[in-house]
Amino acid sequence: EVILAVKDLTADVDGVQILKGLNLEIKAGEVHAIMGPNGSGKSTFSKILAGHPAYTVTGGAVIYKGQNLLELAAEVRAREGVFLAFQYPLEIPGVTNSDFLRLSYNNLRKHQGLEELDIIDFDDFIQEKLEIVEMNPSFLSRSVNEGFSGGEKKRNEILQMAILDPTLAILDETDSGLDIDALRIVANGVNKLSTPQNSSLVITHYQRLLNYIIPDFIHVMENGRIIMTGDKNLALELEEKGYDWLKEEEAVLA
Ligand code: ADP
Ligand code: MG
Ligand code: MG
Repeated sequence: EVILAVKDLTADVDGVQILKGLNLEIKAGEVHAIMGPNGSGKSTFSKILAGHPAYTVTGGAVIYKGQNLLELAAEVRAREGVFLAFQYPLEIPGVTNSDFLRLSYNNLRKHQGLEELDIIDFDDFIQEKLEIVEMNPSFLSRSVNEGFSGGEKKRNEILQMAILDPTLAILDETDSGLDIDALRIVANGVNKLSTPQNSSLVITHYQRLLNYIIPDFIHVMENGRIIMTGDKNLALELEEKGYDWLKEEEAVLA
């Protein structure tokens, strides 16, 4: 079953073309990684999947579970099982993490026609999720992300992901401030939450991430397009030869 099909996607920001014909297909049960040099358009792609208003899609298509994703409002995408991790590390002073998580989860359940969980039932439900991310329950009574370290925010994002149980999890690792601990947390979360029914797209600048997560496919993005796809060995090759090697390969292929 195809979860996400991206065809010849082109997109602009402020009148500058960033995505230049991106193609990608993700099936149920697969873990994909997108790597590539800084500025190649990785974050732009994830923001477009999120429905970020600053980006204008100028051509191509994005089909999610048979629907035109680009026509859906951001909250509808979320409800339909698209999870975009980078949206969440905002700090919300005065709102406890457990209230925030329960409200998000109940909102989803409501749309699925399920009964909302009360505080006590949610408390039971969340215990097993805390174990998945190895998070201390004391984080539940703190304000959302307030004073959390980078690694703790990452852990909290993966906790949200564990609770919402998305069909397509998109994790955009921003290029700064991610230590090895945070990478490991993300990787463990993706590994533990992966099922034959769902899929993940992990966008990273770091080859190191792939020490912890073994994707089914690795794509290299360069200048707004995916220029090469391989398995985990491609990451090793990139580690050894760098991205410049690919540019030379691409020149030969062109
Ligand atoms: P990556 O995540 O691969 O490092 P980005 O998607 O963040 O790359 O950026 C791709 C290109 O788009 C870069 O050249 C960047 O400067 C440009 N870009 C991104 N956002 C904006 C913006 N809001 N205005 C102008 N240019 C932008
Ligand atoms: Mg799987
Ligand atoms: Mg980026």
